[in-house]
This record gives sequence, structure tokens and C-alpha cells, in this order.
Amino acid sequence: MKERAERVIADCRRIALMTEEPGRTTRRFLTEPTRAVHALLRERMEALGMRVAVDAVGNLRGLWKPRGAGVKRLLLGSHIDTVPDAGAFDGVLGVMLTIEWVGIAREFGLPLAIEVIAFSEEEGMRYGVPFLGSRAVTGAFDTAMLKLSDADGVTMDAAMRAFGLNPAKIEDAEIGDDVIGFVELHIEQGPVLEAEGIPVAVVEGITGQTRLNLRFTGQANHAGTTPMHLRRDALAAAAEWVAKVEKQIRAAATTTDPGIVATVGRIVVEPNAGNVIAGSAEVSFEIRYGSSAARHRWTRKLIADAEAIAKMRGIGFEWTEKLDQQTVRMDRGLSTMLRSAVKACGYPVKTMPSGAGHDAMVMAGRVPTAMLFLRSPGGISHHPTESVLEADVEASLNIGREFLMRIASRVG
Ligand SMILES: [Zn+2]
Repeated sequence: MKERAERVIADCRRIALMTEEPGRTTRRFLTEPTRAVHALLRERMEALGMRVAVDAVGNLRGLWKPRGAGVKRLLLGSHIDTVPDAGAFDGVLGVMLTIEWVGIAREFGLPLAIEVIAFSEEEGMRYGVPFLGSRAVTGAFDTAMLKLSDADGVTMDAAMRAFGLNPAKIEDAEIGDDVIGFVELHIEQGPVLEAEGIPVAVVEGITGQTRLNLRFTGQANHAGTTPMHLRRDALAAAAEWVAKVEKQIRAAATTTDPGIVATVGRIVVEPNAGNVIAGSAEVSFEIRYGSSAARHRWTRKLIADAEAIAKMRGIGFEWTEKLDQQTVRMDRGLSTMLRSAVKACGYPVKTMPSGAGHDAMVMAGRVPTAMLFLRSPGGISHHPTESVLEADVEASLNIGREFLMRIASRVG
């Protein structure tokens, strides 16, 4: 497995050089470097005897159908687009690893049909909508999105055509009933496995999240002539609320709601000048937690806090909900098989939730889906220093062998 692991890591590093921006890895949906990635994936897949095609949304799909395989196939994969200034392993690692899983299935003569999907889009960077690839595969692609424009005014429809795709054929990308399930491999993108000294974890579900926009409206005025007690400072109100969010959720995370996280990551102040009292402050808010009841309870509580702060300061307050995504559970049967594969290889069996969204979340709406995390050294992701340990890559290849043997014997 060592040779396979080395090849996986070398390929991820090579693909990181296929970028829109010299000197850093940025590869948005269907941008030019995607062609080079497809060429490399095609080469790797064809060398194994896989049949390769690109669907209308730009997913590269390789089919392995050995003699004696049943009608149903197992789907494997992850995504090949990136955030700006990305690392080499987010998404791409899962694609390269699962191509090696096919190599292992071939080596062991497993009578199992496998399709590896390199999803064209997961991060939502170019059109502000994530999961374009897996939406098409699950039949959840809303063709109204074709009219969206990127930062350069290029519509999604035009981007697809420029890449040689036919947007009218998107529905052909949808899978049928001849699918066993989907398994995604991905780096953890967090510090949990490293802290516990464990190479891999079986994901139990993708944590639900709620996002809001909140707006505090005060009165912009001269910073020199307006006495403190006559001010209606929107930024001060927002700041008081942000501190309250952190304090309360931090306490909840260690007591009533272990693992809950909430973040205010964006604030827009008007007029945003050093000598003017802020007239308005718009802040983002997101909260992630597996229990929808607790997540909603905290959301209501924090909105009430914001209302109270605004009232006390004589400031206007309004809020809108941007997203309310329920927790998506992974398939029990496939996850059990993954856990037993981990155990058979002698690694600690760890189960954990995913705080980040993944294609697996979309796929789970259509087919039984499971997910395996690999440890992220330093807990770092979405950054050029993102990495993976060769031993962990080897571990996930060993697990692949055990897992595919279990699937093949169940299907056959
Ligand atoms: Zn990813």
C-alpha cells in the first residue's frame, strides 16, 4: 500500500499546481485548470481499465465494471474545485484515494462495479451556490441557477458551454436505481483526530446549521460633538451582542450542549469612518449543532438578546434567516461496514460528526451514504499548509480493501 499512498500524495501535490492563480491553488468551477485535472484523472482511471466520461455539469466519472459484477454499482469520490489559496488535499484527496480503491478491488479480483465521481463543484466559490456537481447527480440541480453570473459576468450556462458541456443535458447526469450507495473520503479539516492521535473516523452525520443576517440601525453623527449619553451607536450595540454570543455558546459547549459552535464572522458598518458614530451595523450569524431543537432554541434566545440590547440603546433591530439546514445522518448499514473495516485493520474505531458540509450531505438525500475522515495535521484546512500523513493515507487504503471486500460479498 505504501506505493499507492505515495502516488496519491504526489498526485494531490501535482493537481495543486493546476490553478487559476500562479503561486497559489485556486480552482473554481469549470475554470481552465479543471481541464488539466480531468486529463490526469482520466489517465489514472484508464490505466485501471475504467470507462471515463464527463457529464453535463462537468463531473468526471470513471466506471469500473469487472467480469461477474452485479447490476448495481458503488459510488465513490469527492470534489476537485477549491477555495481561493487552497491546500492540496481538500476534495482532491478523496478522488485520488478512491481511484486507488478501484485499483485494490481490481488487484483482489472483487466482483464489484464501482463508479468514481470527481465532482466539479462543491465549494460554491464561483456562483455562490455549493454542491453543483452532486446536485446534478442526485437530480436536485435547479436549472434556474444557469442564469447566475460569476464575478466577471459569465453566466453558469456560458461557463458550461465554454467548457464544452451542454447545459440542456444536465438531467442526464442523474443516477438511477442501480446504485448501492455512495462513500466519500475527505480530510477532517479540524483538530479532533490529531488531538486524539487517531488516523481516521467514520462520520456519523453532517451537523445542521442555521444562518442569520442581523441589522442594528442607530444614528450616524459627528464623533466630536455628540455626547456619549446622546448617541445611538449601531456598532457598539452589535459589539455588545457579539460578545454575548461568544460567552453564552462557549459556556453551553462545555455544559448543556457539548460541541455546539456559533460564529459572527462578518460585520458591515456604515459609514465605516473613524470620526463618525456608526449609523448601521449588519452582522452575520451562524450556529452549528446536531440537535435542531437546541440549535433553534439558541437562535431564538440570541435574537431576543439582540432585541433587548437594541431596545436599551434606542436602536432599530431586524433580522432575516438565510439558511436552516437540518442534520443529515449517514447510512447506518454502510457506516457499520466502514467501522468494521477500520476495526479489521486494527485502527481505533472513532465516530464523529462533520461540522462542514460535503457532497455526502447531498448524496445522502438520494442513496445510502457514508463518509470517512482522515486526520488533518495541525487541524488546518482551506490553507496552503493543509496536509495529510502518508501513514493515514495508507490506513485508508487498507480500510478500503476491507470495506470493498465486505460490500462485494454482500452484493454478490
Ligand atoms: Zn471539501
